[in-house]
Amino acid sequence: MDHETFRWWESSEIAAAQKKLESSTAASPNNRAFAHLIAAVSQTEAHSAEQTIKSIPSYPKKVTATPTTNAAAHCDVGNPTSITVVVNKKHCINPPSWAPADLTSLKGYLMRGVTADHMQQMIQAATAAGLPFGLTSAYRSYSDQVATYNNWVQVNGSTTAADTVSARPGYSEHQTGLAADLDTGSCVLECFGGTAQYAWLKQNAASFGFIERYPSGLTGVTGYSPEPWHWRYVGSETALAMKRSGVQTLEEYLGISGGDYN
Ligand SMILES: [Zn+2]
Repeated sequence: MDHETFRWWESSEIAAAQKKLESSTAASPNNRAFAHLIAAVSQTEAHSAEQTIKSIPSYPKKVTATPTTNAAAHCDVGNPTSITVVVNKKHCINPPSWAPADLTSLKGYLMRGVTADHMQQMIQAATAAGLPFGLTSAYRSYSDQVATYNNWVQVNGSTTAADTVSARPGYSEHQTGLAADLDTGSCVLECFGGTAQYAWLKQNAASFGFIERYPSGLTGVTGYSPEPWHWRYVGSETALAMKRSGVQTLEEYLGISGGDYN
C-alpha cells in the first residue's frame, strides 16, 4: 500500500487494538501482536515513544519514563555485544539501559551494523526470488520499552496483564539491535507465518545468519507465543548449526534457561 494508505491503516489498527483491549482484560496472544504493532509505530517517521503513546486515541495520561518492575532481578547477561547473547524473561540485559554502540539505519530502522549488513543481503536475495519483504521494527531503546511497557500496564490494569503483551524494560531482544520484525506490506504479524516469504525465510534465513526466534510449540522454552515475523541475527555459523541439528531455540542450543519470568 502507499504511504498515505499505510498511515490510515496504521491509525485505524491502533484504534481497533485499543478498543479490543478495553473491552476485555483477558490476556491473549493477539495482544502481544498489538503491542508489537504499537512498538513498530515508534520506529517509523521518527516518532518518539511518547509521541506514539499520545497517538493512541484514549490513552489515559502521560507516562513517565520510570520502570514499573525491578528489571535488575535477572540481569545476568554477561556480554550484550555478543551476536549470540540470549535475552529472554530469565535473562535481561546488563546493564538494563545498555545500548549498542554501532547502530545503523536500514530502510529507516535502526539496528546493529552486522544485523543491517546481513538483513540487506537477505532482503536482496528474497527480492531476487520474487518474495520481497519489509521491516516493521528493529532496535528499541530501553526508554522506548519503559514507555511501551508502562503504557500496557495502564491499559491492562496490572503488571501481570502487561507481561502477557509486552516485554519488561531490559528484557526485550529488540534492545540488542540484533532482532527485526518483518512483513510483506499487506500481511503484518500473525498472518506473516502463512506467506511464501515466511516459507522462503525458513529455508534460507540461516545462510544469512538469522533464526526464527519464537517458533511454534516452544513457548515454554522461549517464554513467548509464536512470532513468525520476529527474526534474530546470530551469525550464519550458529544459525546453520541449529538448522542442521534441528534445535530451534537459542535457549536449547546454548543450554540457557528460558520460559516465564519466574
Ligand atoms: Zn519482535
